[in-house]
Amino acid sequence: MSFRRLSLALILSCLWGCASQRQVLKPAPPSAVAAQPTAQETPVPPPPVLTDDQLLGLVRPPGMIQDPESGQYAIPQVMESFWKLRDKAAQDGWHLILVSGYRSFKNQMRIWNQFDSLYLKTDKLDARRRVRAIMSLVSVPGLSRHHWGTDLDISESGLRGQLVNVDPDTPERIVKFYDWMKLNAPQFGFCKVYLGKRGAVRDEPWHWSYFPYSRVYFEQFMAIRDFHRLMDARVDDVQYLMKNFPKVFQQETKSINTECSSETSNQPAVDSPQSPAKPHTH
Ligand SMILES: [Zn+2]
Repeated sequence: MSFRRLSLALILSCLWGCASQRQVLKPAPPSAVAAQPTAQETPVPPPPVLTDDQLLGLVRPPGMIQDPESGQYAIPQVMESFWKLRDKAAQDGWHLILVSGYRSFKNQMRIWNQFDSLYLKTDKLDARRRVRAIMSLVSVPGLSRHHWGTDLDISESGLRGQLVNVDPDTPERIVKFYDWMKLNAPQFGFCKVYLGKRGAVRDEPWHWSYFPYSRVYFEQFMAIRDFHRLMDARVDDVQYLMKNFPKVFQQETKSINTECSSETSNQPAVDSPQSPAKPHTH
């Protein structure tokens, strides 16, 4: 099973999964956003308060807005920052494609189960190895940062909306696009959180997190003690996941790039309305 095939499955499942999320919201038109001051000059408002159930994807965060081009949703400040990034990219000759924004627990569960089925059919791995293999590509339902409305999967027209990794065969234009993103996305608050250096998740050059908000939510997420709400019998391998939850949680969260704060240091700090507890380890 090649990664590209798995990536395609992820895209298809997301597009399918996200289609049912549409709700009536009023996004600011991108043209109006473009007329506002740049991301660097605009103070960042405090992040919306999210409950633990919202961080776990069980309840939809309030007031998210939709990107008219892709149909994807995110928290307003996140989406507006993406639009500014997209405008800047267009000036430099890149056409950004928002492949995936907010995902509910149910959507993440569908994606997880699709990958589980693929591995069951093709590789005949036992539960431990299968879960580890899936975790390198897909977050465990409930543990995905896409639940927060802060994290976006971003592709480019040259990639035809695919999420591809960098390998020796990767065309030079794609490598240049990722280099452009690394240079420019942090100016709009976005951080590349999965570097593939540690934890279960491999390098994801397409996954960008709006760090002024996600760093606040990450601290709150790390302080959650009760994950029993995630014990959904419809999640494939849920028994293995819950039996080994401390390790699964650690492998998921250890993957996060903690250097992001310096990359987005030109973004004004925001005051958290919560008082997040110190992160803990399992
Ligand atoms: Zn992602």
